[in-house]
Amino acid sequence: MIVQRLREIQNRHGHLPDKDLRDLARETGVPLYRVEEISSFFPAFVLERTDPAPTVVRVCRDMACHLRGAGELLDPKKGLPALADQLSKETGKKVCVEGVSCLGRCDRAPVAWAERHPMPEHVHAWVYAGKSRGELEHLVRTLATGGEAPPADDDAKYAPHTNATTPVEIDVYAREGWPRDYRAVKKFIDFLAALPRGLQRPPRDLGGRELDAFVKENHPLLAELKAAGLLGMGGAGAPAYQKWLDVWREPPGEKYVVSNGDESEPGTFKDREIMLRMPHLLVEGVILAGLMTGATAGYIYVRHEYLEQIHELREEIARAEQIGACGPNVFNTGRAFPVEVFESPGGYICGEQSALIEAMEDRRSQPRNRPPELTTNGLRDKPTVVNNVETLAWTPFIINRAGTSYAGRGWHVPGEGKTAGFGGRRLFSVSGDVKRPGVYEVPIGLPFRELVESPEYCGGVIGKLKAIATSGPSGGLLPARLPLDPKLDEKKRAEAVARIAERSKNDAEVMDWFIKTYMPPGETSVDLLGVPLDLNFFRNLNSLLRLPVEAMLGAGLVVYAEGTDVLDQAVNFTEFYRNESCGKCVPCRLGSQKLVQIGSELIASRATGTRAEGAGADVKEITKALQLTSICGLGYVAPIPLATVMAYFPDDVAKKPNGA
Ligand code: SF4
Repeated sequence: MIVQRLREIQNRHGHLPDKDLRDLARETGVPLYRVEEISSFFPAFVLERTDPAPTVVRVCRDMACHLRGAGELLDPKKGLPALADQLSKETGKKVCVEGVSCLGRCDRAPVAWAERHPMPEHVHAWVYAGKSRGELEHLVRTLATGGEAPPADDDAKYAPHTNATTPVEIDVYAREGWPRDYRAVKKFIDFLAALPRGLQRPPRDLGGRELDAFVKENHPLLAELKAAGLLGMGGAGAPAYQKWLDVWREPPGEKYVVSNGDESEPGTFKDREIMLRMPHLLVEGVILAGLMTGATAGYIYVRHEYLEQIHELREEIARAEQIGACGPNVFNTGRAFPVEVFESPGGYICGEQSALIEAMEDRRSQPRNRPPELTTNGLRDKPTVVNNVETLAWTPFIINRAGTSYAGRGWHVPGEGKTAGFGGRRLFSVSGDVKRPGVYEVPIGLPFRELVESPEYCGGVIGKLKAIATSGPSGGLLPARLPLDPKLDEKKRAEAVARIAERSKNDAEVMDWFIKTYMPPGETSVDLLGVPLDLNFFRNLNSLLRLPVEAMLGAGLVVYAEGTDVLDQAVNFTEFYRNESCGKCVPCRLGSQKLVQIGSELIASRATGTRAEGAGADVKEITKALQLTSICGLGYVAPIPLATVMAYFPDDVAKKPNGA
């Protein structure tokens, strides 16, 4: 595997020496141009010809880190790069301080990644979190002058904020006081052993029978996923049951399970905690997905900056092999199911599921045109389940406790006799201006207010709420109060509820409750904190409110208090997309740069008190072009940060807010 070998070389030297690339090509028989093609694509690979510095400190420049002053830290004239230049001259050895995309420790912003080569044995990098400017200057100076690196802020040593008093239910083993013995895998194996004719796949012609009924009868543990209503927790929210079913239905042969632990979306760090502190859940989820779909091997794809998580997962896989839960002979069934970790070459786009598969196949990590879907033509062109880490980590709970047990754990609308509500639980990462940034497990549908203000979770906003980025940078910034279209009268609201009722009576009841509570007649805006944290509710809300920009819900929420310059934040989000565009689609490659230019011009014109004419129309045009032509979601969402700020925060676009 070329990508994995390149990652090893990069880890060893801090860059890719030309000689090592030539040796790799010779050894593997892969032409050198192919090795070059891959190594030059990933931003985390540093080529020898770029004159790499032995001492390098990379400061995260995104979202929570930007909010905590990363921009000033990275100022080329007055920030740490200027200090690095000075130290390079003083020591005669190159020192580099540069910006880097989100490092996944947003709850401890600002975050820095440091290397000084040659590194001590078994140390790949040091991660520093929540450090002051003075401490970071000291770090750069110490590393540059050969001093001992200050103790790193390891994730394992840090106790992140999580639910204050209510139990975290995802770890069914800890919750029940069970040994971590992979009993959900055993349950499936016992079920298989009791089948006289083995597991029957659905025939192409079901003779008029419902497919779901067939699954319930023949593969009841798979049907538990359906009963649970488990959705993908990585963003898109695709039903896990459907992916597993689609792969199971494919003819027997090579099939794969890949857990997507890339987690490079700024503001998102929940999977970091699962992989570090509950790796057994993920490993068991991968094995379950493998055995239940007939897959032949499982991979856990992890971003390379999660050093400790990679270590913990490898240890857990070794432990699982030792007790027979995976490896050459799963619990003495004669069936092999190996699991291994794949360390990402690095880059946000690797989190896009088809781009991730490309990286695993030793190609540039560029998203594929679909169809065909990965469930039929995934890794090595074979049927593949790709699930987010958290999605898989919930499956031991579901298999051990039943799908209905998971589904019954959602939030319900308050009020006597009311039964409408949501199903299941999930994790959110919250950072920014809250008192307790961290990772919280909540009932799905819990209103924002509870998560943000309750002492059980974030404990309140530091100051007064101004905006929330509800899906990392992808959803832009939603204001504390969403404006209501004056044309949305009571009749139109009732019609919207009736339309929702055609699809789901429960959803209509929830929306009816929401309208009565937060949109009484005469109200001109909606309290964002009243909105339930549920993907489907967001979709229904979009169709009801006809917002100028679609509201999105992801797993990473970043909270901004009054005084934040949201235009500056939106430009920062847009820069992230510009930096991370893979460049495959011309409109995304050029459009993301154009958006940064428009945002920068808005900031500049605001400073001079002039108007940036036509910016709104330009953003609309680019949005249309990107949303029509982009292969993947990055191009689709790149215009949203600027679009939301222009729609919801005209005052910030006209004038820099006080205190910012
Ligand atoms: Fe790459 Fe952008 Fe096209 Fe996605 S939309 S494939 S990131 S160029």
